[in-house]
Amino acid sequence: MFDKILIANRGEIALRVIRAAREMGIATVAVHSTADADAMHVRMADESVCIGPAPSTQSYLSVPAIISACEVTGAQAIHPGYGFLSENAAFVQIVEDHGISFIGPRAEHIRVMGDKITAKDTMKELGVPCVPGSDGGVPDLETAKKIGDEIGYPVIIKATAGGGGRGMKVAKTAAEIERAFYTARSEGKAAFGNDEVYIEKYLTTPRHIEIQVFGDGKGSAVHLGERDCSLQRRHQKVFEEAPGPSISAEERAEIGRICAEAVAKIQYAGAGTIEFLYENGEFYFIEMNTRLQVEHPVTEGIFGVDLVREQIRVAAGLPMSFSQDDLKINGHAIEVRINAEKLPNFSPCPGRISAFHAPGGLGVRMDSALYDGYTIPPYYDSLIGKLIVHGRDRAEALARLQRALGELIVDGVDTTIPLFHALLQEPDILRGTYNIHWLERWLEENMGQ
Ligand code: ADP
Repeated sequence: MFDKILIANRGEIALRVIRAAREMGIATVAVHSTADADAMHVRMADESVCIGPAPSTQSYLSVPAIISACEVTGAQAIHPGYGFLSENAAFVQIVEDHGISFIGPRAEHIRVMGDKITAKDTMKELGVPCVPGSDGGVPDLETAKKIGDEIGYPVIIKATAGGGGRGMKVAKTAAEIERAFYTARSEGKAAFGNDEVYIEKYLTTPRHIEIQVFGDGKGSAVHLGERDCSLQRRHQKVFEEAPGPSISAEERAEIGRICAEAVAKIQYAGAGTIEFLYENGEFYFIEMNTRLQVEHPVTEGIFGVDLVREQIRVAAGLPMSFSQDDLKINGHAIEVRINAEKLPNFSPCPGRISAFHAPGGLGVRMDSALYDGYTIPPYYDSLIGKLIVHGRDRAEALARLQRALGELIVDGVDTTIPLFHALLQEPDILRGTYNIHWLERWLEENMGQ
């Protein structure tokens, strides 16, 4: 096992990793930008290294600075958290070339899954159900039209290098395909330097269901059920729950088995998430994230396992500490993302926290790097905390969420907390009957978005 690991991240996820490492008796190194000198992850780690100025391109994304920090402190492994360098295959290669372990999958798996066309091809070959569409890239408009007619409208044109909801355009009818094709291409080129696009059938009322998988890197893998992350604004998740209110035990077992077998076959190492759209009882693969997800705590809640601990074990060459048979769902968990953003436009709202009080009590977990008097810098993501509740069933989890939100105090900046108070009054949320368009529509009707 490692004696010391470095966390190449900040905020709540850096704390999350530090906590797991400490329970395992592993020393931790925090890295930080000059803007984060007073950040909680710096205070909580055993050691810290300043790796550059505020902009993340010069600090949290600076590969030489991070490698030097490892060398200087003697850290044997790097945990990337999510975002930043977590899905950067070139970074993983450099880390390994320096004799440092990467706490995550191998570079080749990150590379394959980072390109949407190769990801889809690979998954199809591994027996994972995919959205009907083009086989690979679509070279020109004529081909796009032909495929559109074959699979039927509406269709979605996606940039193969796209991410974060960018580089995707819907064509509702054949008349719209020309505009969608060229817009997706130019967005892909502008944002990701790659104008290759592909086509998929556009599903009109799907839910976003993702399967948590975990592999030991040696050909064994398990699944930890699904998370329903359908409540999204501009493709950003805001509320996640497990198990999914619409998924039966049989469906879970079946899609879970398919996913676990797929990642076992490629000898995948560590945590991964296979994302699907789910409509009329069918799952359609959209992408795989080769890292720990923001919403992993809801899975930890219902299975009672520590996924970060498991990532560290596997990276150190140890076997996973659980098998598929050990994994039994207990109750229901919900996470809400607390962002420093001003409603109704969700504009970032950095600033000084004049008062912070985290809720507590049975079944309540608050993952946050806030403290009284902390100043949220304007340079990074606006996520400032995740409130996760666990109950014996969905109704208990919802009641607990409402109670915990009532206790939570974040003063000094605007946050998304009022959004969740409002959502918990909605019959569709209480019943669990929502799809990926529900929140956008609700925001339009209720916040004039
Ligand atoms: P990104 O990498 O940009 O997040 P994804 O491929 O994961 O892109 O898609 C993001 C979101 O776009 C999905 O969660 C879903 O809301 C929507 N989407 C993607 N593909 C389809 C599709 N074929 N039909 C309907 N909606 C889709």
